[in-house]
Amino acid sequence: MESKRVSPISIKLSSIQESATLKLNTLVLELERQGKQIFNLTTGEPDFPVPDFVKQAAIEAIRSNKSKYTPVPGILPLREKIALKTEKQTGLKFSPQEVVVTNGGKQAIMEALFALLNPGDEVVIGAPFWVSYPEMVRIAEGKPVIVSAGYSQQFTPTPEQFLNASSAKTKLWILNSPSNPTGAMYSEEGLRKFGQLLMSEPKLKNVWILCDDIYEHIVYPGHAFQSFLSVNPELRDRCVLINGLSKSFCMTGWRVGWSVAPLEVSKAIGIMQGQITSNVNSVAQYAALSALSFEGDVFAEMVSAYRNRKDKALDILNKSAKIKTFDPPGAFYLFLNISDALKPGESDLQFCERALQEIGVAMVPGGAFGDSSCVRISFAVADKTLEEGVARLVQWVEHRS
Ligand code: PLP
Repeated sequence: MESKRVSPISIKLSSIQESATLKLNTLVLELERQGKQIFNLTTGEPDFPVPDFVKQAAIEAIRSNKSKYTPVPGILPLREKIALKTEKQTGLKFSPQEVVVTNGGKQAIMEALFALLNPGDEVVIGAPFWVSYPEMVRIAEGKPVIVSAGYSQQFTPTPEQFLNASSAKTKLWILNSPSNPTGAMYSEEGLRKFGQLLMSEPKLKNVWILCDDIYEHIVYPGHAFQSFLSVNPELRDRCVLINGLSKSFCMTGWRVGWSVAPLEVSKAIGIMQGQITSNVNSVAQYAALSALSFEGDVFAEMVSAYRNRKDKALDILNKSAKIKTFDPPGAFYLFLNISDALKPGESDLQFCERALQEIGVAMVPGGAFGDSSCVRISFAVADKTLEEGVARLVQWVEHRS
């Protein structure tokens, strides 16, 4: 008798979704392999190079043999720098022991979730959300609870929505401002309201907040980034700040991020990291130290280039009556509402697959971010790719039968 093959993959991992961005990229690569010209607007990383002085610091670190294991949470001068940066931003004192340098912001978030969540704990996440949050919460055996804010709400869930979605099982709220995928940002007033609820509502008294500030430096004129703790310093002991150099210093591949959290939580994060990866690459840490030690403005030129691209793309997109745009205050994404452009019964994924096959424009379906009436395009791509890509999209949407 033939026995049925049992999957060797754990039940836990079998239920975790592959990143939708990666899935679409596979199709893009296949079409490119076939020689098709693709206008790839899916990228989630800056297209600018790492600043020269950061590269130099890495070369110097290699030359001077800074190549041994470092302390698990990172070299002390880097943690001191991060503590100081956080202090400048929030007005609150942080010790280097409250900082853990991680392999990108991603690892910092995952480790913070492991540090804080017990099985079944609920985590409230605003949609549209960064793809990884719900899956990471599931990996940590928590339960994601999604509150949605669509186009009409400018993709910004309110503090009251977070409150209403919270229960006795809620352990954590996640805030991401500026947001991936929408670029939406919370105002000082908005952040204050979140803080007031967390401090005053009895059912929230044990709820923590994780603020993912990874896009803090990519903010357009007329808007200003505010750290949650600068507005709500009273919540210092219930807050985990996440940040990193991937988006600000274009160091996506170098994998440098960090968490800043109260000592007890940072210790737990460090224990976790000690058992899975140990320290971040020593050379990348020295490069990160030079990045954070730089006094000048490394971001202005890049932000200005993003802004020009964004404005040009919006000009083109706004010619379509079927695409509704949102001018993002930050980050480098446009989250387009395409509900009027979908054919009857057509899903956001089918829309993206057809756009890719028919006009060679690659976008990420909004469902990956919790809003299937939208698609995400990135303007961290060459001007020509962006302009031609969105022009093709508008033409296609207006004329396809
Ligand atoms: N948080 C958000 C909102 C992101 O968009 C990303 C990357 O795309 C990350 C965290 C993780 O970035 P990294 O791990 O490269 O630092």
